[in-house]
Amino acid sequence: MARAWLALGANMGDAKKNIEQGISLLSKNEQIKIIKQSKIIISKAWGNINQADFHNSVIEVETELAPFPLLKICQKIENNMGRIRKEKWGARIIDIDIIAYENLEINTKELTIPHPFAHERDFVIDLLKEIAPQTALWIKEKAKMSSSL
Ligand code: ATP
Ligand code: CA
Ligand code: CA
Repeated sequence: MARAWLALGANMGDAKKNIEQGISLLSKNEQIKIIKQSKIIISKAWGNINQADFHNSVIEVETELAPFPLLKICQKIENNMGRIRKEKWGARIIDIDIIAYENLEINTKELTIPHPFAHERDFVIDLLKEIAPQTALWIKEKAKMSSSL
């Protein structure tokens, strides 16, 4: 069993409900157990600021899935919920990112862990601090170290 931290975001339709549905669909997977859930907050869009505010939440899960299969499940749920990808960082019904997986580091295009922008996003770091302060600290420290190399 491994611990992983996922970030959910949405800014289309009933965004709060979409976050709750995303978490509920994750919990229905037999290989994923939700351990903790942060509160749901509203944040300004990041990166592509000309769009509706987001709802965000971060969860801690226990899983038998390795990182890549876990990513596939997250993407499958996004697709099943009707996510359509248009522009980069555009509006979405649901987004599910892997923020961290144990203390693994993976650097491929398909999967980068810790998530490459997690340390720059208050809506991720603050929610992670609420449920997993050690992991939030680790991500911040790692980013600081690599930026000073
Ligand atoms: P961002 O990744 O900056 O938050 P986004 O979530 O809007 O942007 P998506 O369109 O959802 O981007 O995903 C683009 C690709 O990112 C996916 O196809 C996936 O393979 C890749 N990816 C790399 N690392 C991760 C990760 N840690 N979690 C989720 N997807 C990732
Ligand atoms: Ca994202
Ligand atoms: Ca994503």
